[in-house]
Amino acid sequence: MKTVRQITILGSTGSIGESTLDVIARHPNRFRAFALTANQNVEKMLSQCQRFQPRYAVMLDRDSAEQLANAIQAARIDTEVLSGIESLEKVASLPEVDAVMAAIVGAAGIRPTFAAARTGKLVLLANKETLVMAGRIFMDLVKQNNATLLPIDSEHNAIYQSLPHHFNGNLSTNGISRILLTASGGPFRCTPLATLEKVTPEQACAHPNWDMGQKISVDSATMMNKGLEVIEAHWLFDAPPDKIQVVIHPQSVIHSMVAYVDGSVIAQLGNPDMRTPIAHAMGYPERIESGVPALDMFKVAHLDFEEPDFKRFPCLGLAYQALASGGNMPAVLNAANEIAVESFLKERMKFTAIPAMIEHVMQTVQQEDMTTLEDVLKTDTLARDVAREWLANLQ
Ligand code: NAD
Ligand code: MG
Repeated sequence: MKTVRQITILGSTGSIGESTLDVIARHPNRFRAFALTANQNVEKMLSQCQRFQPRYAVMLDRDSAEQLANAIQAARIDTEVLSGIESLEKVASLPEVDAVMAAIVGAAGIRPTFAAARTGKLVLLANKETLVMAGRIFMDLVKQNNATLLPIDSEHNAIYQSLPHHFNGNLSTNGISRILLTASGGPFRCTPLATLEKVTPEQACAHPNWDMGQKISVDSATMMNKGLEVIEAHWLFDAPPDKIQVVIHPQSVIHSMVAYVDGSVIAQLGNPDMRTPIAHAMGYPERIESGVPALDMFKVAHLDFEEPDFKRFPCLGLAYQALASGGNMPAVLNAANEIAVESFLKERMKFTAIPAMIEHVMQTVQQEDMTTLEDVLKTDTLARDVAREWLANLQ
């Protein structure tokens, strides 16, 4: 008999968190939700605790934790409620934990994701921002502590599935010529350029194919999401930037491809539903059911491809630039982007101001090397301050 894998879900109330719980619910003999964590959503966390009875529930926010603890006591659920960033780190690193789904959005996810790697867990990485901010430091930590890293991001999961078995991290000795990273192009792929200035947060969050959290939805609309994913692919697969090609594929059926020197291109296809990469990584190396309907090729009928337009999507160029500069620049890019997206969502600035803010912050913060997580966190704070200052001067 198999032992049940104990899983901590960082960000269980989010889009990836809920899809993960859906997969867990389909396989009660394989997985148990050991700890669930969220920022402030007490109601959703309570219903998740009622259904999954985790050992721990962590709310980052202390007031939310207090409310949850009262509700859990009243409902007689046997779950211990904790709060604060240290508790997020704790439930990512306790010895009972086998795997950690890193699905907090943004830089807020970096500390608990580091804690999971530091304690040698199976890290299921959705939080791409960790790799963007601290790629080399994080990859070294994974190696040093014998942690296992499996990508949840659909493109990187597709690449992982399309690489040779036992890929040793070297593209050229494995006959790989390029990684083809697909992108839907988001909701504004065909919007007249002159009207982009006026698009609303609601329009930006209405992704044509994927149902996701707000931040990644805006990132998809600017294509910063693809930029962050280029950086993510660089670290995961040790791929130089000129070997990572972004391909716009509006149907989001091919989730990415690997091109080989003999002319073969291996792709992974599927319906755009994150439960596929989640189930792939959770069950790995076995294949398990995910609840995703079979792909109907006749319904798909067409697969289209086009080159990305760097003028329409300046964020994509900024991300390539940050990757080429190296050092602290990807962390600066990420921090500026988080403030830009938040400011756009709160209607404090226009959609087209997003790349302008990021470019300003990248030009203002001095380029430096980073060697520790503390360096990364300092860079993050500094870049956020510069971004907020730019916004204040704009208004
Ligand atoms: P989401 O906004 O739906 O959920 C975010 C989760 O993080 C929630 O549980 C929230 O409570 C928690 N959270 C937010 N701020 C926090 C903070 N400061 N401290 C602790 N917890 C906090 O986001 P999502 O769409 O599920 O995305 C999560 C991550 O997965 C992101 O890094 C995103 O880029 C990545 N990702 C998402 C998708 C997708 O389809 N949604 C696909 C690929 C990658
Ligand atoms: Mg993706």
